[in-house]
Amino acid sequence: MEGVTKNEAGMTSLTILTTARCEMIDITERVAAAILETGIKTGICRLFVPHTTAAVTINENADPDVQRDILAALDRIVPLTDHYRHAEGNAAAHVKASLFGASQAIFIEEGRPVLGTWQSIFFCEFDGPRTRKILVRPTAD
Ligand code: ZN
Repeated sequence: MEGVTKNEAGMTSLTILTTARCEMIDITERVAAAILETGIKTGICRLFVPHTTAAVTINENADPDVQRDILAALDRIVPLTDHYRHAEGNAAAHVKASLFGASQAIFIEEGRPVLGTWQSIFFCEFDGPRTRKILVRPTAD
């Protein structure tokens, strides 16, 4: 189930239940809540996805077609089947995860993540549906 766990080092782990093979899930408010909980007003929030077939990215939140276009373009660039050698059958998901990357760093000001007007933080699932997590670690300047 979806949830939040926190360790003594200030690391928050958000559980994310994905529902499709590939999807982008807006986690901005969950990250903002994790920052708020620490009381940190100014600093950096590091995000890390401890999975090999998922990623985290920042992109437009206003038009959901942008997310659909990103996922469709990725499918064209990295087809599901393409003579891959990886026997598990999810080579495309591994490639997509590396294209987007496992981490992001976002400035914190006034206790909130600093994002552009149209930006959101997206957890990117490339081999779902699965139960996933993302680690969130805000630190003060
Ligand atoms: Zn694999």
